[in-house]
Amino acid sequence: MEPDELAFLEEMLGSAELLDCVTCQEDTLHVYEEVISVADGLTEVIMRCTSCMSTRPHLVID
Ligand SMILES: [Zn+2]
Repeated sequence: MEPDELAFLEEMLGSAELLDCVTCQEDTLHVYEEVISVADGLTEVIMRCTSCMSTRPHLVID
């Protein structure tokens, strides 16, 4: 595995969170997918469920 690819995966794992998934209907590990918007200390991101691979919006409060 390439070093930069490994660093990317480690960063993804580092940002993983337990969130409720509507598809799995339970708390599952979600990984960061992309930032949608940043405003007034609120960051809206897309998180991907590692169980069913569906995505959901998630608000991060700084
Ligand atoms: Zn899921």
